[in-house]
Amino acid sequence: MINLNFYFTIGFFLCVLIAMILYAWIFSRKGKDKDLTLDPKFIWFCSICTHTYINTREETISVCPRCGSYNKK
Ligand SMILES: [Zn+2]
Repeated sequence: MINLNFYFTIGFFLCVLIAMILYAWIFSRKGKDKDLTLDPKFIWFCSICTHTYINTREETISVCPRCGSYNKK
């Protein structure tokens, strides 16, 4: 009886822990996606062809995908 309660409690806490980790993971991933789409520092405006594009890899200089010219922030 004591053993059964012990394993039940361990299993219950493991389930709660896994659910909390999954919830935190999904929540943090959603926040990250939101940051990526809304962060204005990833939105680039080409001064040559006036094309607006998103580049999340570069922070100072990026290449315009339309005309291939370099753009500075
Ligand atoms: Zn361009």
